[in-house]
Amino acid sequence: MGARGENVARFRYRRRLQGQVRAFPLLAGVLLSSCGGERLTDWDGDPPPSILFISVDTLRADALGMYGYKKPTSPELDAFAKTATVFEQTMSAASWTLPSFASLFTSYFSSTHKCWKPVSKLDESFETLAEILLRNGYDTACYVSHPMLTSSNGMQQGFVHFDDSYSDPDADFAARISSQEISDRGIRFMQQKARVADGVPWFLWLHYFDPHSHYMPHEGITDVFIEQPGKQRPLLRGTYDGEIKYTDIHLGRIFKELEELGLADDTIVVFVSDHGEEFFEHGNVEHGSSLFNELVRVPLIIRVPGEEERRIPEVVRTVDVMPTLLDLVGIPVVFEIGGRSLRRLIQGEHLSLPPALMEIQQTKETIMKGIVRGRWKLVHNGSAGGTLSLYDLEADPLEKSDVSDQNPAVVAELKRALEKMVEEAVAHGTKYDKASDQDMSPAELEVLQGLGYLLDD
Ligand SMILES: [Zn+2]
Repeated sequence: MGARGENVARFRYRRRLQGQVRAFPLLAGVLLSSCGGERLTDWDGDPPPSILFISVDTLRADALGMYGYKKPTSPELDAFAKTATVFEQTMSAASWTLPSFASLFTSYFSSTHKCWKPVSKLDESFETLAEILLRNGYDTACYVSHPMLTSSNGMQQGFVHFDDSYSDPDADFAARISSQEISDRGIRFMQQKARVADGVPWFLWLHYFDPHSHYMPHEGITDVFIEQPGKQRPLLRGTYDGEIKYTDIHLGRIFKELEELGLADDTIVVFVSDHGEEFFEHGNVEHGSSLFNELVRVPLIIRVPGEEERRIPEVVRTVDVMPTLLDLVGIPVVFEIGGRSLRRLIQGEHLSLPPALMEIQQTKETIMKGIVRGRWKLVHNGSAGGTLSLYDLEADPLEKSDVSDQNPAVVAELKRALEKMVEEAVAHGTKYDKASDQDMSPAELEVLQGLGYLLDD
């Protein structure tokens, strides 16, 4: 039932998009024309670069070699990172999948797009990264492997080729292993693009799921990471690390294919995660229940052809990814609030950066929200009577000590900044329609519950 409903929704959406595909005067180099449903193939000069957007679900930054992890989880990603810009402190807008992706693909925080719940659907009044690229002549495609990144949640917006068949709610989703399949499909897409060589830039989103619970062992891979097989925490963490290593192997195939097909020099590659994972550091497992850094600090690596490799120590946000990409390909979209372009950092210049905002809904009435500016992080816990906690991320990167009592002036200043950011995000959200609640089938709801998402109704 659910799958059929999605197919109908996708079909309707494609028909609607066909009427929208047209040249857009923003992009330098686009030959302007109004050609109805026809595909744009004429470019005045070189077309802008294609974009390969790779996301791995549930991947905490500090589980990867380039972020200091000592275990060999990520040799392929580490090699890729040596050719790119590595953002060392990237904050996600949320600590679970849907709001995090809604923020990545709209450049707005949760208080604006309001995808607070697993059944929320991003409203079509928001224009996504894929929609803007499509409108400017890009071919857009994605292969996703998370049941929350489907048309049910509005994540299909802007994709001409939208393949969520790997999110079939009838399957035992938690037990699936999908990285090989996602890489196979991504490689097939790139091979087709290389063969056609029609000069039309493309935007390909590949979403990997394997580090998400339930963690699955991989023969010849996982054993290396499990130090104390009999104990729960090392077993969980080791199996999670093995999932990352398994995913890394299949990411290596993508990077290799990109080079071998001769596409690397014309393709911007983005690597990001939606959130991390916790292993009892603050009493919980998995994700979505707090805003500690094991959940909100994510990897962000961007490779732009012709740019030198570098590392950026300043705090940036996942909402900055969309403005950065649009800026890099010459589409000058200015966001009133939300994200801002990091292009100048990638090009070795200086940029003053706004604070990072992160939010999750706790109950129907309460939101947990946090702000990170420089070394300080302030978290407002809505359901605990509105308590405030302050962490010094430089002196205490594991967030073990709440130092709010010792730093009242910092708390007061960050509280004001946090309130202002949320107020602006809420006010901007009134320009759009709110996320709606989807009627999901019992099978779809069961899949989400099986993956640990709490559904309040
Ligand atoms: Zn996720």
